Amino acid sequence: MSSELSPALTNKSIELTEPVCPPWCVGKADETLHEVHEGARIEWLGPEPGSSRTGPALSASIALLEEGPESLQPEIWFGSSGSWTELNLTQFGSAIDELEEYVIALRALRYRYAAVLHGTDLASRDAYANGPKHPAEITALCPAWCNYRDEDGMQHSDEALEDRFHCSEHEVVELSLHQPRTDHRGNLALDEVLVNLEQAAYHRLPAVALTIEREAGSFCSLSLPEARQLRAVLGKLIAQAEVCATPTALPPLEMVAAHMRAEIADDPKLEPKYRGYALADTSPDGRMWVCIPQGLPSDLREETIRCLLAGAFEAPLRREVPNAAHVPLQVTGDRAAWAAASARAAA
Ligand SMILES: [Zn+2]
Ligand SMILES: [Zn+2]
Repeated sequence: MSSELSPALTNKSIELTEPVCPPWCVGKADETLHEVHEGARIEWLGPEPGSSRTGPALSASIALLEEGPESLQPEIWFGSSGSWTELNLTQFGSAIDELEEYVIALRALRYRYAAVLHGTDLASRDAYANGPKHPAEITALCPAWCNYRDEDGMQHSDEALEDRFHCSEHEVVELSLHQPRTDHRGNLALDEVLVNLEQAAYHRLPAVALTIEREAGSFCSLSLPEARQLRAVLGKLIAQAEVCATPTALPPLEMVAAHMRAEIADDPKLEPKYRGYALADTSPDGRMWVCIPQGLPSDLREETIRCLLAGAFEAPLRREVPNAAHVPLQVTGDRAAWAAASARAAA
């Protein structure tokens, strides 16, 4: 039996080797034999730092055991003090994704809490409690974040455009640090990103609108603090939009179409690149035909139809065409689609 193969001697030879500390380890240099290599901890102390709690509420760090079956690969140690979970790269990525969702939910909770404190009911209310005054007003409720509400917070002004469009206040992210520029007078030009919520009244959910104010039009660069600010603003607006969203409040499409005496035609000859058009008979109680490309995904189909129905009442988009019956027809929507259909009919 060779003494070189005895376990005791093998261990001895390992101990004699100089321990190798990975470069990310922040263990003290004089502690030549620590059992765990650990990188710098990312810690959140919690809402009440310095209270009776023994450690941070959340902590994460890279760690590698010096010995044992887990010593092959570093892991993330993640959790609160006394309750760690070991995560690999994929698991850590999922945890971060979930935390980002959690932050949005926290912001939504903060929004609801603020509403409770102010004694105001910020939930969406029916702006048209007395029933629709106009077919195009078969729309979603005005969300609480809408800036077009009157002083009572109940409904829009009487201007038609505003009645079909909800818009929040603009959040401004000023871009001044990263690439300071001067205008022709030599003044420092403050570029800015405007962020707000928008919702066409016939859309189920709002959208986040980004406006980049810059001479060049559509390009800007953000320093990292500015990008962080933009992220915070986006998180706030997403939370606000989700709290106030009433996606099921929109009347069913069939009901809107019936109310507006509109017939929907899924036209197999209309190319999918067109968004469709609406043709309305302007006589009293006139009918309307809404032509859309056949085979649109159901969400897009519904949005396209709602958009055309609402657009049929927006005067600037109307164009009247002569026809044999001497009743003016109004064409709204995608002009190219209408032109293609007309050309086909003429051929
Ligand atoms: Zn180490
Ligand atoms: Zn509104």
